[in-house]
Amino acid sequence: MTESLSPSSPDQFQKELLSLVKSVKGQVLNAENLYIEVDWKKPLPPKKINIEATDKERFHDLCKEVADCQRCPLAGTRKNIVFGDGNAAAKIVFVGEAPGADEDEQGLPFVGRAGQLLTKIINAMGLERKDVYICNILKCRPPGNRNPLPDEIRLCEPFLKQQLQRISPQIICALGSFAAKTLLRTETPITALRGRFHFYEGIKLMPTYHPAYLLRNPSAKKQVWEDVQMIIKEIEAG
Ligand code: URA
Repeated sequence: MTESLSPSSPDQFQKELLSLVKSVKGQVLNAENLYIEVDWKKPLPPKKINIEATDKERFHDLCKEVADCQRCPLAGTRKNIVFGDGNAAAKIVFVGEAPGADEDEQGLPFVGRAGQLLTKIINAMGLERKDVYICNILKCRPPGNRNPLPDEIRLCEPFLKQQLQRISPQIICALGSFAAKTLLRTETPITALRGRFHFYEGIKLMPTYHPAYLLRNPSAKKQVWEDVQMIIKEIEAG
């Protein structure tokens, strides 16, 4: 560093200046990531959310209808139907794409690595999983985690519609491009959809990045944090 204070030529000076700028830029980026990490670990104070109904009461007949569903070929490859989990009177519903291997194994949504990150996000919002409802566009795992097919969505979405009608949440948070585009019937990319509210069947919907995407791109946590803060503000405003 001392050497760079006395460059031997203008060329050398330019090189050293460039390297200094790069190093400062790197430190700022690291600091940003650190800030985001700290944010996740510092949950907001717990919010009081009314938990009255139980899944069983509100979804009894619907669960019966979904159980042993044979409407599409996924019935032949699934281990378990992943109906949904959480508070059936929740103000916030998180909707993902479809169960993965862990979810298929346990019959519960978002229990794998992406699910653990979703739990952290929910905790950072000052909530617990039991305060919100979590489900997917599809109730069964597509083999090899491929994208859901249009026919599978057409046949499965009525169950989700019923769930959302019965929960009647204040906000839906669509996790990832697939859920957001499916629910909003749009081809607009998630980068352009996220960060503002849309509507699904009269319910406010915030699209944000999928936790699995965040595992691969941790710097996008900053944007997800912005999106969920907008959800918190909306819930607080009533
Ligand atoms: N990804 C999803 O979209 N849903 C799950 O339940 C798990 C992973």
